[in-house]
Amino acid sequence: MQIFDAAVVGTGGIGSAALFHLAKRGLNVIGIDQFPAAHSLGSSHGQTRIIRQAYFEHPSYVPLLRRAYELWAELETQTQQQLFAQTGILEVGPPDGILIQGIEASAEQHDLPIEKLTAKQVQERYPMFQVPSGNRAIFEPTAGMLFVEKCVAAHLQVAEQARAEIRSNQEVIAIEVNENPIRIRTRTDEILTHRCVVCSGAWAQQLLPLPDTIRVVRKHLHWFASDEPDWQAKNNCPTFLYELPEGHFYGFPATNELGVKVAEHTGGEIVGDPSRLSKTPDSTDNERVETFTRQHLHGVTLQRTHHDVCMYTLSEDTHFIVDQHPDNPQIAFAAGMSGHGFKFATVLGEALSQLVLDGKTQWSIDFLKMSRLNA
Ligand SMILES: Cc1cc2nc3c(=O)[nH]c(=O)nc-3n(C[C@H](O)[C@H](O)[C@H](O)COP(=O)(O)OP(=O)(O)OC[C@H]3O[C@@H](n4cnc5c(N)ncnc54)[C@H](O)[C@@H]3O)c2cc1C
Repeated sequence: MQIFDAAVVGTGGIGSAALFHLAKRGLNVIGIDQFPAAHSLGSSHGQTRIIRQAYFEHPSYVPLLRRAYELWAELETQTQQQLFAQTGILEVGPPDGILIQGIEASAEQHDLPIEKLTAKQVQERYPMFQVPSGNRAIFEPTAGMLFVEKCVAAHLQVAEQARAEIRSNQEVIAIEVNENPIRIRTRTDEILTHRCVVCSGAWAQQLLPLPDTIRVVRKHLHWFASDEPDWQAKNNCPTFLYELPEGHFYGFPATNELGVKVAEHTGGEIVGDPSRLSKTPDSTDNERVETFTRQHLHGVTLQRTHHDVCMYTLSEDTHFIVDQHPDNPQIAFAAGMSGHGFKFATVLGEALSQLVLDGKTQWSIDFLKMSRLNA
């Protein structure tokens, strides 16, 4: 029976990148996913994802983001297509809130370009955005959006070009971590491999010994029509993120006939079984996003052109869990991406490939180790 040098379980956002970085090293690798390539049943669909560098979540992410940007640009060159649009991002919140304070801390520590704007300056430059009284705004020019399904497909394409084997529509039911070689059991087959990367997104807890505090939540995406030229990406409309007392809301300029995409980052209903994800709209979420849109996004109608549902997999501190398996260092994983992981797919793919092939990575990811949660 063939023994692979490395296998990737879950070839979605992060796993597709890991597969490419393993294949690039000239190894005999296989990627396995329960669904077809670039599907819309997990966490990596819905047209767009924000990418930004002045990371309010923690300054330790910034070196990873610098590398992520480089690798996204390389992937665009390799596949000859646009995966990233540099729109900038407008971020709005109270001066002492986690958003403004966090952006300033990361920008200062890592010398990143940001522009601090008063409400009046926002009104002059971006009259379509309403800034609540007493709030501040920051514009980060290097931010933008990634075209999420295209990114996943691009990683799978370059992985295949580097001779990776891709098996879609095969659910992994167990990984025998203590066997040498590692035995991966699917519903119909067994695969043997010396090393393994697990990136199973919302299904992470079924294959990995993660803390039981991990939660999967259902998140809604809404597209609203707008004829206003100000809301078009081609007219320099930025992506946006608001910290408000009622929650965090974000969105994207119009890139096609569906219009402006708006969503709430906070909240979400618990998903018991990710394989039975309901795509039905939720009236409370509809109302919250409509209220935000009506109050803060002038010229975006409440005429909904499209709706979709996606899953966040939240760790208890909302930082990622990227580590080697506690029972077998030949297995590495990324889990608990907590609704902000896509922009890191490139660099985490590279880091995971290094963890299983070299036993270490050049990137400082100790702050993402699982032991912080077990302690
Ligand atoms: C609505 C929404 C908005 C977001 N916005 C942003 C944003 O603006 N910026 C940002 O950076 N991030 C954002 N995120 C987060 C980001 O999209 C996710 O963190 C990232 O896509 C997760 O990638 P993943 O590889 O962990 O999961 P996925 O892409 O879902 O991949 C997991 C894969 O594993 C497969 N799998 C699972 N179990 C098995 C099994 N047993 N056998 C075989 N295959 C299996 C699944 O089929 C799936 O393909 C957002 C997420 C959502 C839902």
